[in-house]
Amino acid sequence: FNVPAPKNEPVKGYAPGSHERAELQAMLKTLKKQERDIPMYIGGKEVRTGNTQRISPPHDHSHTLGQFHLGTAEHVQQAIDAALAARPLWAELPWQERAAIFLKAAELLAGPYRAKLNAATMLGQSKNAFQAEIDAACELIDFFRFNVHFMQQIYQQQPESAPGMWNRLEHRPLEGFLFALTPFNFTSIAANLPAAPAMMGNVVVWKPANTQIYSAQVLMELFQEAGVPDGVINLVFVDGPTAGEVIFKHRDFAGIHFTGSTGVFNGIWKTIGENVSKYRSYPRVVGETGGKDFILAHHSANAKEVATAITRGAFEFQGQKCSAASRAYIPSNLWDDVRQYLVEDLKSFKMGDVEDFSNFINAVIDEKSFDKLAKYLDNAKNDADVEILAGGGYDKSKGYFIEPTVLVAKDPQYVTMCEELFGPVLTLHVYDSQQFEKTLELVDGTSPYALTGAIFAKDRYAVDLATKKLVHAAGNFYINDKPTGAVVGQQPFGGARASGTNDKAGSILNLLRWVSPRTIKETF
Ligand code: GLU
Repeated sequence: FNVPAPKNEPVKGYAPGSHERAELQAMLKTLKKQERDIPMYIGGKEVRTGNTQRISPPHDHSHTLGQFHLGTAEHVQQAIDAALAARPLWAELPWQERAAIFLKAAELLAGPYRAKLNAATMLGQSKNAFQAEIDAACELIDFFRFNVHFMQQIYQQQPESAPGMWNRLEHRPLEGFLFALTPFNFTSIAANLPAAPAMMGNVVVWKPANTQIYSAQVLMELFQEAGVPDGVINLVFVDGPTAGEVIFKHRDFAGIHFTGSTGVFNGIWKTIGENVSKYRSYPRVVGETGGKDFILAHHSANAKEVATAITRGAFEFQGQKCSAASRAYIPSNLWDDVRQYLVEDLKSFKMGDVEDFSNFINAVIDEKSFDKLAKYLDNAKNDADVEILAGGGYDKSKGYFIEPTVLVAKDPQYVTMCEELFGPVLTLHVYDSQQFEKTLELVDGTSPYALTGAIFAKDRYAVDLATKKLVHAAGNFYINDKPTGAVVGQQPFGGARASGTNDKAGSILNLLRWVSPRTIKETF
């Protein structure tokens, strides 16, 4: 019964003149011509309430992509009921059948769904073609294929038996339903949060971020076409408190799979704590939250490599990856060179809509995010101790555009060195090259987060020292590489401290959270 050995999906380059580029451009045109009316999906049925909200691309307010139907607490209850009704059959289906569904989803996405999901991600979330491809196509295909492989490993994991007995482990789905609360910034994560528990035989209520609903509908079509039965994954659009009120008080609540802000996750823990005696079992609380990810250069590092890591690590997808570099520590001996490379590199970045494939920078996700970032930039402009090395401008007349910005702060504790901004703004501090050890302490102590971080050095003593001193500063630690772009099956992803429960998406560790093993001992 061996499932196919998983391989990472190759990334398409969308080179000018290529067939794949023409196909993606045609799909963008087709989607832009439609105005999609997006229902909730409860028990396999499309549910329209008439209470609709318009969807437009973050980079172009004047265009309407469609609308979605907002639900109420009643719809959340219906979604739970539908999930629980689907549970008995789904939980008893042999795991190979579930595996086949998600392997089929991977193939559908590698083939006929690829252009559509990429285009929906580009338009709805303002991702450029390359960023959409590594997310909505490659990472999601990898999640499906690798998780099926991990799933097999879990089911095959069995204990020893002494003579005269037979010991077994039965990897049961959790008793109840799961809640997937998903972010806008990765379509792959929005899909994996409901899909991973579902693969292990669980049923799910899925609430996406409003700003990701446009591509979430394509995901729902993909799940349905791959053969996920009605009621196994139910998609609802309600505000967070409404969903929480019904879900976290329900006796059958079995766990949450979350990616989002630390503040929201802290609130969820509190609510779950208050209601814990109501549940059948202690719920699984799995979350990936904020970050204040760093790049630290040692005086032995290569200046050009450091600069490139900063511009790619901080500004891909407008810095809206939890893993994005947002603070950098540069030794004084490298500063002149790093500075020059940064300015040159940033000059070459074009900003604009997603249909022009030469635009590296697109819009930030919504007005709330735009306004928050603009305020930080205004404050920086008025601070004599902060230099704006590049960028600093913003404009929301057509879309939510924030220039990729590098701030140079004299004070290593300056507000943007400490707080998560979630946008294309990196703050940099130049330290005395002789003070590397002191700077390690600074890196470790400046933020409550611990998601990703990178050390650049040729000197192996420096690499070793940083690896040891920063042992808890990042769940994903990069040596001489940018801190973004973890690949499923290769760099299991997740952080600790205020960055989450570190259950490592893209590895067997995450899937293990979605089963509740029963030990069976039979004596002969
Ligand atoms: N896995 C992504 C990366 O390594 C980041 C995921 C996130 O932003 O939540 O860049």
